[in-house]
Amino acid sequence: MRNSRVLQNSLPTQLTRSINPLNMLNIKTFYFNPYRECTYIVSLGDSSVCLIIDPGMYGESEERRFYDYLTANNLTPLAVLITHTHPDHICGLESIDQHYPNLPHYGTIYTMPADINDEITINGFTFRLIPTPGHKEDCLCFYFEQDHILFTGDTLFQESVGRTDLPGGDIAQLTQSLNTLCQLPEQTQVYPGHGYPTTIEHEKEYNPYI
Ligand SMILES: [Zn+2]
Repeated sequence: MRNSRVLQNSLPTQLTRSINPLNMLNIKTFYFNPYRECTYIVSLGDSSVCLIIDPGMYGESEERRFYDYLTANNLTPLAVLITHTHPDHICGLESIDQHYPNLPHYGTIYTMPADINDEITINGFTFRLIPTPGHKEDCLCFYFEQDHILFTGDTLFQESVGRTDLPGGDIAQLTQSLNTLCQLPEQTQVYPGHGYPTTIEHEKEYNPYI
């Protein structure tokens, strides 16, 4: 009896795997530092590689949570993606560089492709950079078109947007950037730099800035 129970208990895991094919993105969200910035770890199906988006770990306890998650899930980072260079989005970058020397960084002041419309492929991850100035001049969104997933940093939040009154901010540019994002398919899932995920469809209907 005990053995059959064990077998039954193992079924949900197998089912989970069968609906979680190798090419599906898994997204882990941490809320780090006093600004509750969203740091994302994006992995691919059951593979052991991941991308890090906006590392905002601040202090030893947050760093420990972050690295413990990578270790527990046997994940090796391939690159760091930076939506923009406000301190709450990059304060964990120095720690990552110490842990994983030579990890490439993607962002406007880091690595840029020759053509902004080029797709970037890193070991099975495929995404495009969409420049979205307005909250800050160096803002980017990362668009995983095949997966209908968009990381928006502080350009677009659930029913809100990033402030434009800090250096490099420009409300007219932000409006133009939001228009660009609204051209994406409505089912696109939006993972913002603060707060909770949303969709382009929801924001077109409920965001007062759009
Ligand atoms: Zn910001």
